[in-house]
Amino acid sequence: MFIGHYAVGLIAKKLAPRASLGALIAAPILLDLLWPIFLLLGWEHVSIVQNTNPFLRLQFDSYPISHGLVAVVGWATLFASLYFGFTRYASGAIVIWIGVVSHWLMDYVVHRPDLPLYSGSRLFGLGLWNHVWATISIEVLLFVIGVWIYLRQTKAKDKIGDYALWAFIVLLLLAYAGATFGPSPRSVKALAIGTLVTSLFIPWAWWFDAHREETLQNPER
Ligand SMILES: [Zn+2]
Repeated sequence: MFIGHYAVGLIAKKLAPRASLGALIAAPILLDLLWPIFLLLGWEHVSIVQNTNPFLRLQFDSYPISHGLVAVVGWATLFASLYFGFTRYASGAIVIWIGVVSHWLMDYVVHRPDLPLYSGSRLFGLGLWNHVWATISIEVLLFVIGVWIYLRQTKAKDKIGDYALWAFIVLLLLAYAGATFGPSPRSVKALAIGTLVTSLFIPWAWWFDAHREETLQNPER
C-alpha cells in the first residue's frame, strides 16, 4: 500500500484540524520510513523477485521491527507521546496513534501473509495484491476520498496553499504510477533509498498546510 496510507493522513485532518498535515501524514507512513533504515542497517530483509504482477515483486523476508504489530503499537505510542509532549493537543495525539497502527491494518489487507505480530510469529495478510486492478482501484479511491475531505476541511490562504497542494497530489499519483508500472528496483539499497526519499512529502505537506486554514465547518473544535 502506498497512496492509501497518505489518504489516512488527509482524512485525519478532519478529526484533528489543529494538527499539521505534516504530522498527520508522517503517522501512517512512519513504518515505511523506518523499514528502509532497518534494511540498510541489515536488521530487516527483503528480496526483489521476478513477477508480472508489480505488487508481488518484493518478497518481505523479515521485518518484525518495522512491521510487527507489537512493535507497531510501540512506535504508535512513542510518536503519539512525543507529539502530545510538544503540542499538548490530545486529539492530534490520538489521531497520530491511530494513523501509525492503521498502516499495519491496511498492509494486512493488501499483503500476502508476510506480516508478523512479532519476530517468529504466525504471518498475516489477506493478499489483495494478487488482484492488480482491484488494488489500484481501492487505493486511488481512498486517495480521492482523502483529498476531497482535506479540500472540504481547509481552504487556501494564498497561492502556495493552493499550488503546492496540487503539486503534492500530482507528484504522489505520479510516484504511485512509477512504482506500479515502472521497472523493478535495481537493488535493495536502491529500493531503500527510493523509499526514504518519500519522507520529503512530510515537510512538503507541513508547508502547504501552513498556507491553508480551516473552513468553518467545525467551529467547536
Ligand atoms: Zn508498510
